[in-house]
Amino acid sequence: MQCFQELGRPTDEFSHVGFRDDGRYEIKCSLGHETATVLQQQKFEVLFDIGAHAILDGYYREAVSSFTSSLERFYEFALRVFLEQASKSEELFQNCWKKVANQSERQLGAFVFLWASNFGESPELLSNPQVSFRNEVIHKGKIPTSEEAVRYGNSVLGVLRPKMLALREQFAEEVSKVTFYHLRDCRSDSDNGKTVSTISISTIVSLTCGEISHHTMSLEEHLIRLSEWRKITGNS
Ligand SMILES: [Zn+2]
Repeated sequence: MQCFQELGRPTDEFSHVGFRDDGRYEIKCSLGHETATVLQQQKFEVLFDIGAHAILDGYYREAVSSFTSSLERFYEFALRVFLEQASKSEELFQNCWKKVANQSERQLGAFVFLWASNFGESPELLSNPQVSFRNEVIHKGKIPTSEEAVRYGNSVLGVLRPKMLALREQFAEEVSKVTFYHLRDCRSDSDNGKTVSTISISTIVSLTCGEISHHTMSLEEHLIRLSEWRKITGNS
């Protein structure tokens, strides 16, 4: 951004960075400009992509773990949206979340009932065999095959994706508000006087992508696309 301001054009420089928990990416260009870039994507979107990368890299246990975390963080995101709708402020969510933050079963319970009260139906969740499979992988050290990891990823996609699209459609304003809170939380006090930009990347589960075909592709199709992207960017 600073190069652009000084030279009137971007320098076409690229940096490889690893995914970060705080969503902030601080980079120094060859001219010494320091910039911070904030990734707009929510945790659940990033975690699902990490799972896909893990499959491409041959880490199937890690893929199952990341897909599971993606779904859990999606439930959290949905709860934020519902509470934003109910209270028009973040405070109610924060106060409630403190009481369930360390127990994923409580979070799931909250999600089931708030989903039901907002959409008038009981949400479809992972099937019992998929839950047993996940527990064996995560708690009992099971080493899944590539096929098992892909099947599990597709199940997570089947649970998460339609709900994400339903939220986006029926709670558009609240989804933007929660996105705004996320971007705000990624800023830090040290940003004063620095150029901070926001970028949006295309993830497999994607709140921002408007193409219908993107949301109907299977995990296998996304893996092919991701693998091509890794070759183009020299990350394979
Ligand atoms: Zn620069």
